[in-house]
Amino acid sequence: MAPGASFLPNLAEVRPEVLQAMVRQPISHRSAEFHEMFENIQYGLRDVFGTERPVYVATASGTGMMEAAIRCSPRGRILSLVNGAFGERFVKIARACGREVYRHDVALGAVPDPGEVASLLERDSYAAVTVVHSETSTGALADLRAIASTAHDAGAAIIVDSVSGAGGTPLRVDDWSLDCVVSASQKAIGLPPGLGFAATSDHFLRQAAAVNDRGVYLDLVSFDAHARNSETPSTPSVALFFALNAEIAEIVRESIGPRWDRHEAMRVAMERWVASVARESGVGIGILATPGSRSPTVTALTLPPEIRSNALISAVAARGYSIGAGYGSLSESSVRIGHMAGHTVVELTDCLAAIG
Ligand SMILES: *Cc1c(COP(=O)(O)O)cnc(C)c1O
Repeated sequence: MAPGASFLPNLAEVRPEVLQAMVRQPISHRSAEFHEMFENIQYGLRDVFGTERPVYVATASGTGMMEAAIRCSPRGRILSLVNGAFGERFVKIARACGREVYRHDVALGAVPDPGEVASLLERDSYAAVTVVHSETSTGALADLRAIASTAHDAGAAIIVDSVSGAGGTPLRVDDWSLDCVVSASQKAIGLPPGLGFAATSDHFLRQAAAVNDRGVYLDLVSFDAHARNSETPSTPSVALFFALNAEIAEIVRESIGPRWDRHEAMRVAMERWVASVARESGVGIGILATPGSRSPTVTALTLPPEIRSNALISAVAARGYSIGAGYGSLSESSVRIGHMAGHTVVELTDCLAAIG
């Protein structure tokens, strides 16, 4: 039994050396040592997000960064593309922040179609479009580049939740002209929870400066000004910065391309395994997400009526592996497997053997 082998969709397993890096006295976030660590972290995060601009690091969860993105968005109506729980969260946040939102729903497991998005944008005018990169509730991976180009053709900003994407699947903020991309520490980046990330376009940030009610704590304009001095606006979780610095060293050592390839290989291993189980045992399992739009970091497995998720999850736990239940209406009829951060095909294969 491999104790603590976690393949949860909502929490990455953290490397022991990353955990170890947190066990020390904190340092001042205005010290030279912090500045140096901040610069080192920027060096690695630039590759994770695919940007030459600074990547803001906040002491917040992914939801906090989604709220930061909404509060800094240009004034006007928001089009929210919803294909699962996190797309829906953007709607809730935007409405709670006083924004007028039009919600466009797509089937669970599917991804928004750029053509449909284009016609919605033709029919009405929107200041921004929200989209989830890797929808952790279903395992679907959106085509960010196509959606971004559609949004820009209509003059709308594109706001992206890449909480379970960044670090595990190609993300190119600059090349794909993404306006605001947010993420969090505990998914494909492989840290304990508690840090949030945001990368923006220059244009988005200039527009944000003209928005009056951005708040204080998660104001990305302020994060930008402080990042230029290699600092955060207020006292961050310094312990998590130590962890981030250690994980960045690992990301730089492996380099981002091979890290993305390793995740892609896990997605392929999942597909092969599902096909072989169906072929060899006749058990009717499947993958919820549409072929061709599957996330390399998380898979939702659909189960046949005779297998319920809680029974499967406990049986797999007895073999030493944690996997998660399905989302919402699919909680009983599916399970979710997170194959992200430090995991390899070999480890995933062991977990799949336990599920088998
Ligand atoms: C986990 C997750 C979030 C929420 O992150 P928190 O850190 O729990 O606030 C948002 N979006 C996606 C896609 C996620 O996977």
